[in-house]
Amino acid sequence: MALKGVRKPRHVPQRTCVGCRQVLPKRNLIRIVRVEDGARMDPTGKLAGRGAYLHDLRSCWDKALKGPLANALRTTIPQADLETLKDYAKSLPAGDPVLQDNGTEGSGEQEELLTD
Ligand SMILES: [Zn+2]
Repeated sequence: MALKGVRKPRHVPQRTCVGCRQVLPKRNLIRIVRVEDGARMDPTGKLAGRGAYLHDLRSCWDKALKGPLANALRTTIPQADLETLKDYAKSLPAGDPVLQDNGTEGSGEQEELLTD
């Protein structure tokens, strides 16, 4: 009977993607941090400063770079940094939002049961 309740549920920090506003564990997100002269990626998540988080999906970056990211960082992102971030976004997978349920238009394959 020496077992005490030392169970510590591991706390997973949750963050919001500033592109699509989904909340998810921050290890699934890329951190952008505000620095003195702009904004840059923080792959280690260790840089000091105000940070914002983004999915590793191009669609989220595209959205975020149009304004939400700058808002989240409470700064204006210089053009040069925007270009860097856009370049990075191009290397990301395009990302497939939930469009899977829409493919059932005009498949008229039901009439094949013709028996002569
Ligand atoms: Zn997102």
